[in-house]
Amino acid sequence: MFKELEPMGLKDADIAEQSLFATGKAERAEKESDQELKEKAEKEAKEYEKDSLFDKKYECPICDNRFKERTVRTGKTRLLSTDTDLRHKYRAFDPIKYDIIVCPKCGYAAMGQRSFEGLSSLQRKLLREQVQANFKGLPPMGEIYTYDQAILRYKLALYSSIVKRSRASERAYMCLKIAWLFRSKSEDMKPTEEKYEEKQLKCKSEEKSYLEKAYKGFDAAVQSEMFPICGMDEMTFNYLYADLSRRTGNMEMAKKMLGMVLVSKSATSTLKEKARTLKEIIREEEDQKEQNQNKKLG
Ligand SMILES: [Zn+2]
Repeated sequence: MFKELEPMGLKDADIAEQSLFATGKAERAEKESDQELKEKAEKEAKEYEKDSLFDKKYECPICDNRFKERTVRTGKTRLLSTDTDLRHKYRAFDPIKYDIIVCPKCGYAAMGQRSFEGLSSLQRKLLREQVQANFKGLPPMGEIYTYDQAILRYKLALYSSIVKRSRASERAYMCLKIAWLFRSKSEDMKPTEEKYEEKQLKCKSEEKSYLEKAYKGFDAAVQSEMFPICGMDEMTFNYLYADLSRRTGNMEMAKKMLGMVLVSKSATSTLKEKARTLKEIIREEEDQKEQNQNKKLG
């Protein structure tokens, strides 16, 4: 192939081992191994998730059915970071997928064992009439739950929660956790997935709609309940409420709540630090918005 180059000192034999398209091959091999690495990491994460779970036994207070529920072993989660709305991000998998207990026979669902078992006789009556009487069964779920399956379980718990007339804070917290699951789902989505952009937009709008529900729910809770609310003291609650205000576009309320945290004598220094960071984020977002408006006006 390169015979005519030989007088110039370049010998065919020297590169005979490499093909003309060797670079292409090498690149493809690199991409393939990249893909392989990603798939391997994903497989390992799934194995880790499976190994982190065990079956816990429950007895349903509505229909007496005995069943097992996938539960996260203690010490199996590794915290990576915390979002401004207090959502914990973990390595390998999101344990909040497993916080809901659902009776597969009657459809009664709740968040956590105490809530699942602690029912008054009126609540049992309501759940029997409005959930058990109508429930037709759960769709099949694997050893580990997808985000969509986890969201479905939260919606069942939310449904039971409304039927049993539980506190607004309980429902608000469930809505917040559904929003977090949509966020996890969007973070975990692969760009190679079909209709990626469309699915991302859907996730974002679902997340926002559940954040709005949580915001409304916590607003109702603070007017009718005593602290601690969902395990939060007043200042932690105010901080969370500030971030939910920001995320739902209520900037004045967000600033007002942050102001309360920053001057409070009972807020811890860690919480005040979080409040300062959030105040900075709000300032940057407002600057950005102003710049965009100026651009539009030309
Ligand atoms: Zn049941």
